[in-house]
Amino acid sequence: MPLPDGTIYLDHAATTPLDPRVLEAMLPYFTEQFGNPGGVYALGRQAAAAVDDARETVARLLNCRPTEILFTGGGSEADNLAIRGIAASQRKRGNHIITSSIEHHAVLHTCQALEAEGFRVTYLPVDEFGRVRVADVVAALTEQTILVTIMLANNEIGTLQPIAEIGEICRARRIPLHTDAVQAGGALPLDVAQLKVDALTLAAHKFYGPKGVGILYLRTGTRITPQVTGGSQERNRRAGTENVPGIVGAAAALALAQAERETENARLIALRDRLIAGILQIEGARLTGHPTERLPNSASFAFQGIEGESLLLNLDVAGIAAASGSACTSAIVDPSHVLVALGLDDSWNRGHLRLTLGHSNTEADIDAVLTQLPAMIASLRRLSSRPAVAH
Ligand SMILES: *Cc1c(COP(=O)(O)O)cnc(C)c1O
Repeated sequence: MPLPDGTIYLDHAATTPLDPRVLEAMLPYFTEQFGNPGGVYALGRQAAAAVDDARETVARLLNCRPTEILFTGGGSEADNLAIRGIAASQRKRGNHIITSSIEHHAVLHTCQALEAEGFRVTYLPVDEFGRVRVADVVAALTEQTILVTIMLANNEIGTLQPIAEIGEICRARRIPLHTDAVQAGGALPLDVAQLKVDALTLAAHKFYGPKGVGILYLRTGTRITPQVTGGSQERNRRAGTENVPGIVGAAAALALAQAERETENARLIALRDRLIAGILQIEGARLTGHPTERLPNSASFAFQGIEGESLLLNLDVAGIAAASGSACTSAIVDPSHVLVALGLDDSWNRGHLRLTLGHSNTEADIDAVLTQLPAMIASLRRLSSRPAVAH
């Protein structure tokens, strides 16, 4: 169903609207229940109790202890805290970090920044479907390795990684494993014992919660150096007055998303597969990412000979909100780092289109895309093949 303004929203991997039930849960904490959780008086204690409840809810959903849950100012901050925090605390033991070449920039750019500080980083390749090979992780481990960080689900192509298998290997060697699970929050089970991870990142706005609230699971015994210093909040691991409404909203959103996960996934998979089957009818189109080991809501494509950015503009004019990893940073379109890692050549890797589904979408939305997309692609190809006119 289009949004009230008529937009067909197919960019749920970028963000999701706040669920009205989540807003309801948050509202009192903006107004009457405004106390600082650090206060000793009733208003403060009530705010602290709301944060405690939220922490317990999240811990139950992740199958961990409440003391293992930290709230941050978003997914990027949680990724930074995990990676920089673990790296700094382990500096005396070693300086080697392993990650993948298809991580979100919150991980990739953080690892690059650590390289400038003297850490050595291995960026593992992926196979043609975007999967990290477990054998490559094993081969990359050294005596100096102090952290492995590999995402649970990719934001551009939707591919899922074999995190539990990697976790098994890391645990046997006592090397902490962090996973950026931001795209998986509402879509996959998040049992950290089964995933065998030591740290896991979530962001509330990717599962119908508020923006600017992140969740970091940190397994007991995993040491981190705080990256925001100040007060003693979050057991001295992240300073700053708690975002009480945001934290309440994050927990409420995660509880709803996980409770409704199986029914919603079944609905989204049917829509996604209808979309994929329809788009693959277009000549010069291919699915990117894994055919089955992928997020239920994620459809990702490459179109030969077109620029993703131009396609997004055409879709926008038609009232369809979509995304592309092939971003326009200057006059030319940069290929997506993820599509390059898949081994797609230049005629394909600039033509990325990501359509990510969510609560509002129905079959009519899918059919609208399938009706309009072929003509857009054909016209973009005609334009790009027209010889340039000299003035
Ligand atoms: C959105 C996203 C992030 C960043 O989260 P923010 O809350 O926007 O900072 C990190 N990793 C992945 C995989 C994401 O999709």
